[in-house]
Amino acid sequence: MNQSKKRIAILGSTGSIGIQTLDIISRNPALFEVSTLIGGSRLEPLVAQAKAYNPKRVIIADERQKGALTAALSGSGIEVAAGDAAIAESMLADDTDMVVTATVGYSGLLPTIRAIESGKDIALANKETLVVAGELVSEMLSKSHTRVIPVDSEHSAIYQCLVGEDSAKIKQLIITASGGPFRTLPKEALASVTAAQALKHPNWDMGAKITIDSATMLNKAFEIIEARWLFNVDGDKISAVVHPQSIVHSMVEFEDGAVKAQLGIPDMHLPISYALGETHRLPTGERPLTLADYRTLTFEAPDTDKFPCLTLAHYSLERGGNTACVVNAANEIANEAFRRDQIGFNDIFDVITRTIGLVGFIERPTLDDYIATNTEARNIASELIKKK
Ligand code: MG
Repeated sequence: MNQSKKRIAILGSTGSIGIQTLDIISRNPALFEVSTLIGGSRLEPLVAQAKAYNPKRVIIADERQKGALTAALSGSGIEVAAGDAAIAESMLADDTDMVVTATVGYSGLLPTIRAIESGKDIALANKETLVVAGELVSEMLSKSHTRVIPVDSEHSAIYQCLVGEDSAKIKQLIITASGGPFRTLPKEALASVTAAQALKHPNWDMGAKITIDSATMLNKAFEIIEARWLFNVDGDKISAVVHPQSIVHSMVEFEDGAVKAQLGIPDMHLPISYALGETHRLPTGERPLTLADYRTLTFEAPDTDKFPCLTLAHYSLERGGNTACVVNAANEIANEAFRRDQIGFNDIFDVITRTIGLVGFIERPTLDDYIATNTEARNIASELIKKK
């Protein structure tokens, strides 16, 4: 391998962010090469990616598919492995310079922690890492050489706004939200909306889980929690504003009253390439932003009566401990149940809040406590859904 190129491992390569990351790598072959591709359970796209990018190793999380993956790549010289232990182990490989954590959900936590321990730079797209265990991960980061550059568009925007600024002068982080597909529906209509309706997101092309989180606005709650740990800013200085056009990606207000914003078309190629380039600006192939085409950019306060999941951000940060870990775990179960039409839209908030009340509170969780909390909350949320 050519050592002058940055060697990238992609955790979650077959998902939406993973595919777009490979796009950026293809556009910049002199700068990047792929060391490791890690997929979940979809064999065919993973094999196709491996053949196109010729990484050192390919890992599939679903161990039952190891045989098929090995057969598909036999003779290629690419190492094949499967399962969570192999994924965690690959985070330590010294032929990787940067890990893109593009996987969705709690499953991103342990590999990300391994990558931090081995001092790899991280392009962080897995927001759940900081939602579930933000305090612990922040402590680890403060003692390590790892640099974390956010990929989430809102956090990339804030990161870009903070270049050259003194973080002690931050008055407020203002995170923009599209408001999701149900923003304009009356509250009464939300009880009967379906997953298929929610999956028609107005602006962003994302995976199914995060699209439902966007519809409930829990995604925005998670982004407030993520921002709290990423930028070390207290929760009461972080707010969300609904901006349906998704052109302003987020803003920072400073003590002198200045507000900086980062704008662009809603497309993840920009924040991904900004992270891969470690804040150097690379060609992304994006359409240019023509403001005159939009004519008006609007902003409104979020409606927490209709979308109560948004309130779980400040609630979780104030209560602290393992609360956000419970919220995330209960949501992973409820979100999936909604996608399978097993529960209604408003049940998602109900399942999460009831799970919070039933899981033991831990004020200073260790990593093992987070792991146990995740399991306990998932079990309780599943039981609550069975009774619905
Ligand atoms: Mg986002």
